[in-house]
Amino acid sequence: MHVIDLPSPNHAARPADADIDILVLHYTELPLDESLAILRDDARAQRVSAHYVLDLDGTLYRLVPEDRVAWHAGRSYWRGRDALNATSIGIEIVNLHGDLHDYPSRQIAALIELCRDVIARHPAIVPHNVVGHSDIAPRRKVDPGRRFPWATLAQAGIGLWPRGAQAKLEGDVQAALQRFGYPPAVEVATADIVAAFQRRFRPNLVDGVADDETRALLADLLDQVKVPRLA
Ligand SMILES: [Zn+2]
Repeated sequence: MHVIDLPSPNHAARPADADIDILVLHYTELPLDESLAILRDDARAQRVSAHYVLDLDGTLYRLVPEDRVAWHAGRSYWRGRDALNATSIGIEIVNLHGDLHDYPSRQIAALIELCRDVIARHPAIVPHNVVGHSDIAPRRKVDPGRRFPWATLAQAGIGLWPRGAQAKLEGDVQAALQRFGYPPAVEVATADIVAAFQRRFRPNLVDGVADDETRALLADLLDQVKVPRLA
């Protein structure tokens, strides 16, 4: 696909043993020009960047080469690991707030093409490891937001989506969320992590309450990824 190179100075070397195995999706929260300016600014106290910025019309900008670390995730955790910038690719999708604004179909079509390319280059990015910023930083982050079309992406083979709400979840919901990949309830409460899960997998009701439907969706996803119960 057509890519416009717009290099950012904000990047670092990958650790020597890093296997790129996580894809993190974000929304910019700002219009394109402001987003590009911030992501390419090396004079900020908190320098930030992403590998790609995808505009509303599907125009794609490459800021950081995939073999370098971009600074998009911040404090983050998934499947037992933290500091995920080291092993991830970050895509910033232009949208002012993904709870309020739909993602245009042209933008999503381009995103699917980009994600397929990225995953083809890095086959360790299994569907289980395609995440939103809100998944890896519960409460602190809400992007890409409740209107992000995760189901459409899953249909295209990118990321997971529940098959239904018939499965039964045995045991403690916090333990099950951690088996799936979410962080332990140390810096945030279990309700925050349940809300992060709902934001991703049941966006029409995000209340932090582990109700029967939430538990069933989580059970289905655990079954999809075959994560064994801990003793
Ligand atoms: Zn983000």
